[in-house]
Amino acid sequence: MKLDKLLNWSEKEFSFLPWRKNRTLYGTLVSEIMLQQTTVGTVKNHFERFLVTFPDLFQLAKATEEELLIAWKGLGYYRRARNLKKIAETLVQDHKGEFPKDPSILMGIPGIGPYTSNALVGIGMDQRALAVDANLERVIARLFNIKIEKGIKLQKEIHALFSSKKIFPRVESYRKLNEALMDLGRTYCQARKASCELCPLKKDCTSFQKGDPLLLPLIKDFDKKKAIDHELTLVRVLVIKKDKILVYQKKKGEWLEGQYEVPTFVLESTDNSLKQYPHTHHEFEGLMTFKTGITKYSIKNTIVEMNETQFKRLFPEFKGEWRTVEGKTSNLSTATLKAIDGYKKLKS
Ligand code: SF4
Repeated sequence: MKLDKLLNWSEKEFSFLPWRKNRTLYGTLVSEIMLQQTTVGTVKNHFERFLVTFPDLFQLAKATEEELLIAWKGLGYYRRARNLKKIAETLVQDHKGEFPKDPSILMGIPGIGPYTSNALVGIGMDQRALAVDANLERVIARLFNIKIEKGIKLQKEIHALFSSKKIFPRVESYRKLNEALMDLGRTYCQARKASCELCPLKKDCTSFQKGDPLLLPLIKDFDKKKAIDHELTLVRVLVIKKDKILVYQKKKGEWLEGQYEVPTFVLESTDNSLKQYPHTHHEFEGLMTFKTGITKYSIKNTIVEMNETQFKRLFPEFKGEWRTVEGKTSNLSTATLKAIDGYKKLKS
């Protein structure tokens, strides 16, 4: 398989991505952790700002929880930010702030799993390694027509084929190969849509030649069911006390841990297993609505306003500790921020 076309296409279209300029191992670690579960478009808007706040492992290791959450704002899945800080602490304490070059030592660092380790070696160090996530798994299964169910088994097979040089035997740059395959998975070779006519590898792609790329990777029936999206209707309550809006902090172990939110309840949900917020059967007249989305949920948010006494009467079981929103409060959850902004516009 000739890779020139693929690499040239990737370089031409995506070398502008901020984490691809002035590559460092630290930048690779930060970008790869941000890119797990967050789109390139969103990471693009946050990566450089994060690096200005925490330019190296030493600064990140010293960050307070508050500073970290503020710098991570907008990226979601805050557990990743804490994980990143833990990795920085270990590298500073045990490795003098250097990244070990040996993949087995890298893998021994808490928070660095097989994907991140391969990304650091393949992309950060430009050594022979493939950062196989769901994107690469899909692209490679299609390119080489690998008929194994997606997941650990398929990933193992891809790593085995790659280590034995049965796939990609001659590679000019492992960094460029990883990046280009990621680009392909994000653009032309998506899970539910393959734009093969535009793909730089279409002449070499076995699935395309056979005419059935969307059949791969094989998916278990169980996973097909899991992928179904859910509709949620939430009510977000703006409790007003002396013209100030009340918020409470999410506790350790709760969804959005450490962030401040307005009290939020589930009005309707197509997901019976949803536990993130309590349900309510009260009826409300909403001031306004707005839509958000997270993981498999499409969310309709309804905003209601009430004073503290009304709130206590309706929700006597609510245990959050209040604090008022004063001026610019930066550690509010994204949906709460939207709710408050919308409410203020409505009132002005
Ligand atoms: S030709 Fe189609 S199936 Fe093959 S890698 Fe390209 S986009 Fe994916």
